[in-house]
Amino acid sequence: MKVTTATLLNQCYGRYAVPAVNVFFMEEVIGLFRAAQHWAAPIIVQTTPFARDYAGADMLVSMVEAAERTFPDVVFALHLDHGVESHITGAIGSGRYTSVMIDASHDSFERNVKRTAAVVRMAHEKGISVEAELGILAGVEDDLLVSAEKSFYTSPAQALDFVRETGCDSLAIAVGTSHGAYKFSGGQGLQFDILEEIGEKLPGFPLVLHGGSNVQSGVIKRINAAGGKLGEAARGVQDEEIRRAIPLGITKVNIATDMRLLWTMVNREFFRDRPEEFTPTTAGALYMEAYTDYIGTKIALLGAEGKAAEFS
Ligand SMILES: [Zn+2]
Repeated sequence: MKVTTATLLNQCYGRYAVPAVNVFFMEEVIGLFRAAQHWAAPIIVQTTPFARDYAGADMLVSMVEAAERTFPDVVFALHLDHGVESHITGAIGSGRYTSVMIDASHDSFERNVKRTAAVVRMAHEKGISVEAELGILAGVEDDLLVSAEKSFYTSPAQALDFVRETGCDSLAIAVGTSHGAYKFSGGQGLQFDILEEIGEKLPGFPLVLHGGSNVQSGVIKRINAAGGKLGEAARGVQDEEIRRAIPLGITKVNIATDMRLLWTMVNREFFRDRPEEFTPTTAGALYMEAYTDYIGTKIALLGAEGKAAEFS
């Protein structure tokens, strides 16, 4: 059952968070919906513009719609992650998305407000909600690349003005996370004083955490033991940080890097351990199973297990 993103985020505020997972291909779509069904958790399915270009937007969204028919009990929303106006117009025009993100965080505050407000007007006309971003996360995601020097935290005072002036429905904030596998290189972790202050300025308003992956050192070690060469100093967001952030207003936690690492681990170990294999679906089935299990751990972490019942 598809619901609006705003419904999900307003419902869970302060109590639990909804996992927002970026999907790129069929195994991920199926793995995600299986997990949502098994743990009766609401989910947000996300597609980046990069994912839409990779599979073709219609192909990608059609896979999600096929999953909707296959798993009719799953409560989900469909979100365009990190869009600019050209992607957003397409996503809104298609009538298939429940929310879009306008990422104008790299612009000046004034220009970010202007671009976001224009998208909000366009989206709200069609009943679609809008996530905006204020502050800049460092790191790499698809074709986004931001150096640590160019990143900065969200200002709580600006956050209040921004939400008032744009009318956006949720806000992605920069409070110490980063995109990609090389997180927290400075080891500083989540900035709870800033998060708390933003929550106080915007009570009840859904906040979004990008770069919410954990980047488990055990996974990195297994990848490298199977021939990978990933940096072992990477540190993601720790589970206790996520748990602490939810009562402060984080309603949506974006997860992308952990799933990429999982794909790398499953496939590297598969080819190392089963050199006689050459059947793509054998590795694909292993990945789907591992994907479902891993999403299950995220659902438990965010407290979303069993919460689909709140929407039926
Ligand atoms: Zn992001």
